[in-house]
Amino acid sequence: MSGAVVSINAGSSSIKFALFTLDTDGPRHAAAGKLEGIGTAPRLVARDADGAVLVDRSWNNGAGLTHEALLHDLFAWAGDHLPEHEIIAIGHRVVHGGMAFARPLLVDDALLTALDALSPLAPLHQPHNLAAIRAIRALAPALPQVACFDTAFHHDRADSATRFALPRALHDKGIRRYGFHGLSYEYIARTLREIDPELAGGRLIVAHLGNGASLCAMREGKSVDTTMGFTALDGLMMGTRCGNIDPGVLLHLLTQEGMSSGEIETLLYQQSGLLGVSGVSSDMRALHKSEDPHAAEAIDLFTWRAAREAGALVSSLGGLDGIVFTAGIGENDPIIRASICERLAWTGLTIDRDLNARNAPVISRPDSRIIARVIPTDEERMIAVHTLGVLPAPGGGR
Ligand code: AMP
Repeated sequence: MSGAVVSINAGSSSIKFALFTLDTDGPRHAAAGKLEGIGTAPRLVARDADGAVLVDRSWNNGAGLTHEALLHDLFAWAGDHLPEHEIIAIGHRVVHGGMAFARPLLVDDALLTALDALSPLAPLHQPHNLAAIRAIRALAPALPQVACFDTAFHHDRADSATRFALPRALHDKGIRRYGFHGLSYEYIARTLREIDPELAGGRLIVAHLGNGASLCAMREGKSVDTTMGFTALDGLMMGTRCGNIDPGVLLHLLTQEGMSSGEIETLLYQQSGLLGVSGVSSDMRALHKSEDPHAAEAIDLFTWRAAREAGALVSSLGGLDGIVFTAGIGENDPIIRASICERLAWTGLTIDRDLNARNAPVISRPDSRIIARVIPTDEERMIAVHTLGVLPAPGGGR
């Protein structure tokens, strides 16, 4: 029997997962899917590496089923699906590692307690990440679990990239810019080292453009600056999040509009961004199809804001050698890529219309001063790689 690892990304009502079997050349993607509707109408869907559906299961009267009960059923399915493999570890995306945690870590009681203390920094994500770890501990106490932090990739940036212009005591208390999407950026940096070592060693902007969206400025594969800050609200306009905003607006909403902090949170996280500006949808594909002029306006603002933030990162990098597009929009949407690249033409970037339309790996023209690439991200694989790297060696020690 050989081993397998599971990558988990747990949210409030859904758990994304991927199963990797262990081959000699690293983790091999065996299946991926989602448990969704937890607390209402749970549904488990998993697909193989080619996208064929392996399981599509709903539970009758499943509203009362806990994360733990559903994870039990997920692991039972995984065991049946991979009878020749034993799950030897679980890796988790944990959104916040705070100031202390810059590397993936094996979970123990002390780590869980320390990560609980970071929940106020990411109240919408961290508690759910940790709840899944606890649920699996209850199901299989001896199974090693590894926490992989979305903030870790940005941990070693210079002080200027992490500091708000606030009194020092607040910075020391942890009110600083952390940055997120770190597992995605790390995967891109790693992949680029394999496919284009010269560019990987240069000055790069990676544009992670999905429902959540951010940019990362990298030099020699390391994060120098990024658009997300204290929370995953900052920076670019996103599907339903506002991105950077004058903090005075929040004060105005509190004091003049009489909004509560809860209402403002809902506004900024769930009702803004593409959805708020278009009034149509948070989904880029739906906006392209819409004839509502506000949909076009939302798309235009999205690319304008992305190019504006990219310009700031060019300054952080002291120049630019390449740009990489990734995530749902970045990997699949030639219109958005073209618009952002046109707005960055002043850097010397020109893209090839046909290559861009085909989502080709390189979309810049041969004579472009800046190389533009499209690289599909794979955060789940990054989690699996980290999980294997952290596992105790058989027979003790590390
Ligand atoms: P993600 O959060 O990475 O799953 O990305 C979700 C976003 O990607 C949504 O706005 C989708 O509309 C967008 N997206 C996914 N696939 C495509 C596609 N083929 N063309 C354009 N946008 C896409």
